[in-house]
Amino acid sequence: MARPLFQALPGTRDILAPDSQRMRALVEVFAEEAERAGFGQIVPPMFEDLGVFTRIGESTDIVTKELYDFEDNGGRRIALRPEFTASVCRAYVQSRPVPPWKSWYAGPAFRQERAQKGRYRQFDQVGAEAIGSHDPDLDTELIALAVRFYQRLGLTDVTLLVNTLGDKADRPGYLDALRAYFGQHLDALSEQSRTTLEINPLRVLDSKRPGDAEIIAAAPVLLDYISDEAAAAYRRVIDGLTALSIQFVEAPRLVRGLDYYTRTTFEFASNALEAAQNAVGGGGRYDGLVADLGGPDDPGVGFALGVDRTLLACDAENVFGAVETAADLFVVATTEGTEALALTQQLRSEGWRVERAYDGRSMKAQMKAANKSGAPVALIIGDTEAADGTVSVRPMAGGDQVVVSRSDLIQQLKDMLP
Ligand code: ATP
Ligand code: MG
Repeated sequence: MARPLFQALPGTRDILAPDSQRMRALVEVFAEEAERAGFGQIVPPMFEDLGVFTRIGESTDIVTKELYDFEDNGGRRIALRPEFTASVCRAYVQSRPVPPWKSWYAGPAFRQERAQKGRYRQFDQVGAEAIGSHDPDLDTELIALAVRFYQRLGLTDVTLLVNTLGDKADRPGYLDALRAYFGQHLDALSEQSRTTLEINPLRVLDSKRPGDAEIIAAAPVLLDYISDEAAAAYRRVIDGLTALSIQFVEAPRLVRGLDYYTRTTFEFASNALEAAQNAVGGGGRYDGLVADLGGPDDPGVGFALGVDRTLLACDAENVFGAVETAADLFVVATTEGTEALALTQQLRSEGWRVERAYDGRSMKAQMKAANKSGAPVALIIGDTEAADGTVSVRPMAGGDQVVVSRSDLIQQLKDMLP
């Protein structure tokens, strides 16, 4: 076959039925759990002023390398959203809802990354954010929401990693300690990490490069440098998770990819996926982001889960499969008239899933299509039926075909179909 003139760009793909249906079902599960927990849906725009996203952190990969930004016809600097948190905070500053403001979202995000399985340039996220409260119970509730969501999908092999990044004031002392420590091990660090060290030592901890792992494993931990208040908030989260019987692993060197995190940070890793793409979700507190966007000094906490990777994890664990839904009825017509058209619409308006054949195909071809549709019942309109105002009802699994008048048809079908 000749190569098509156009193909979906690298890192993008068409999600077709039944996979698209499965994705919708996943979002539906998330929506249900989020709304039970008191989160309302926000649908923010997919693009924003570039400045909204550069606040995420000048030294993060998302901003330096991955952002899709461009100038529009009005000369505005625009970026496609690489994540939702900054947009949600921008919306909070713009409309000033009563805090704590709890919102959930679902939709695509865009990052210019090296495309591979589980890493796309357009991918979907679901997530939730709570803005305007310092209460660590919110952190725990958010984690519990994500855990509940994974449980409902049937995922069992997901590890929750938890850490605290302390407050901004705790940072300088810790950064000094990191600089001193990594400074002693410069030779062993990868070249990229040496560069990162100069920009933001904290981000060296996020290096996934194999050679760096050993050095990172012995690096100072933030917990030893944080204020009593931040430490108490962290304890409260740990105690909350324990009280809820949520299993977790304390990961004292977990920093995550964004600069804006403070206090609680967490990540969900699927053990069923390859290490490079095993992060199925993550989040934490971002107590300075709202202020950075020109708003009040209000705190926030939230998480985002990768829909595509979560579905890959479901595949790997063999849970939450795509459901191929069969038709309820299949209309077969060998007349020239509009009977098939009208009957099909009538049956659909009764709430059944109804398919039919097109292009005036032969009876045999139509019956074949009826078989393929999975419909348990075929409805046949030939010239006789059209003239008599009847329909032949044929159970596809075998059994007698009966002729039914149009006026009795709906009741007859209600009796036949489950
Ligand atoms: P990674 O370390 O794998 O690059 P990340 O830290 O950049 O992930 P976040 O910014 O925390 O990811 O986004 C939340 C979730 O969104 C991730 O846990 C992941 O499941 C998903 N995600 C992030 N980037 C991509 C991508 N390019 N393609 C598919 N899913 C992604
Ligand atoms: Mg990333």
